[in-house]
Amino acid sequence: MQWCHYRNDQLLAEEVPLAELANEFGTPTYVYSKAAILQAYGEFAHAAQGHRTLVCYALKANSNLAVIELLVRAGAGFDIVSAGELARVLAAGGDAAKVVFSGVGKSESDIRAALAAGVRCFNVESEPELRRISALAAASGQRAPISLRVNPDVDAGTHPYISTGLRENKFGIAHERALDAFKLAASLPNLEVLGIDCHIGSQITEIAPFLAALDKLLELAGRIEAAGIALKHLDLGGGLGISYQGEQPPARRDLLEAIFARLASHRLGRNYELMFEFGRAIVGNAGLLLTRVEYLKSTPVKDFAVVDAAMNDLLRPALYDAWHGVLPVARRDDEQVVYDIVGPVCESGDWLARNRRLALRPGDLLAIASAGAYGMTMSSNYNSRPRAAEVLVDGNRALLVRSRETVESLYALERRLPPAD
Ligand SMILES: *Cc1c(COP(=O)(O)O)cnc(C)c1O
Repeated sequence: MQWCHYRNDQLLAEEVPLAELANEFGTPTYVYSKAAILQAYGEFAHAAQGHRTLVCYALKANSNLAVIELLVRAGAGFDIVSAGELARVLAAGGDAAKVVFSGVGKSESDIRAALAAGVRCFNVESEPELRRISALAAASGQRAPISLRVNPDVDAGTHPYISTGLRENKFGIAHERALDAFKLAASLPNLEVLGIDCHIGSQITEIAPFLAALDKLLELAGRIEAAGIALKHLDLGGGLGISYQGEQPPARRDLLEAIFARLASHRLGRNYELMFEFGRAIVGNAGLLLTRVEYLKSTPVKDFAVVDAAMNDLLRPALYDAWHGVLPVARRDDEQVVYDIVGPVCESGDWLARNRRLALRPGDLLAIASAGAYGMTMSSNYNSRPRAAEVLVDGNRALLVRSRETVESLYALERRLPPAD
């Protein structure tokens, strides 16, 4: 998170002091760096230059319209998992022809919306989904472009909740059934088979699992083509990790170059366009969650810093036992104490960080680092807590890109009972 740095012991986001953002927008607030998002995407785009490659951004990592629009302008494609995400891409000025539609449970209305918009490809995860898409395409007089997501049975070496390429997983079509599924797809009149895809997991910090998945796809592609079904593209999904706690994921360029080299050495691989669907690697280290210490609370066994952000704002620690760095916004020389950083929600799982050595006073501000991906998008209103504001910094400017929710908006769709008789 180079965009987040100290000057005179004050933490800045790009050139904006975080303390000023807290004064202006309140806390908790998500803060994103425009430069960091564009740099991360740009490294992929640069490495892909000269190759027939579309780098898609997986919207579910962070679907704020301003974030999407930055990536629209930078030329990215988009990976979506719902009609809601499609609507966001279109609302941000994106082009449906650069959208791939993933997800294991596409509803009829999801599919209709995507057909109407003209998405580039449906990444299909089951035989019944093939039939449903073909039927809906027939009803609107279209041929739906599809790819089949296969489960390559590759261990991405990551947390079980974010590992998706193993046999026991709900995702994709089992490797040994893939050929039959492709034959079914090719036989359905309103489908156009374009490609084959996979997505093996998230927060992957090595190149090897990606190459193993690629090899499995290429081997399958050989058998699919031998059955007379031509493919145009391979989609390797997303999943590249970031550094939360000193992990060292491969450089984006090194990953892409290893993949291009493997493709170039393969008889069929040379012919295919390549697609990626990166989420976390584009936005994860481009965001932080700004929060204020409400209380310092000592118990006989532990010291707690109770802050105004909680698991409803940033679920990853509670859900995955995830580690996020915690940075004081104003560094001070006081004695340091080991704290658990916890929120006000009534759950023992409501913690953001554990055993952090910090010098704190009530009212201090903290930055929860690496919160740009799967932060705001996984947030909820649990405990009737309005969702945080979102701010995008650009040099010395700060742009409010989502207002803090109001309490009234939380129950605006609810209805009171009819009058009692
Ligand atoms: C979540 C998801 C992605 C993005 O994963 P990251 O780990 O954020 O890169 C890509 N493709 C599919 C199908 C997904 O479900």
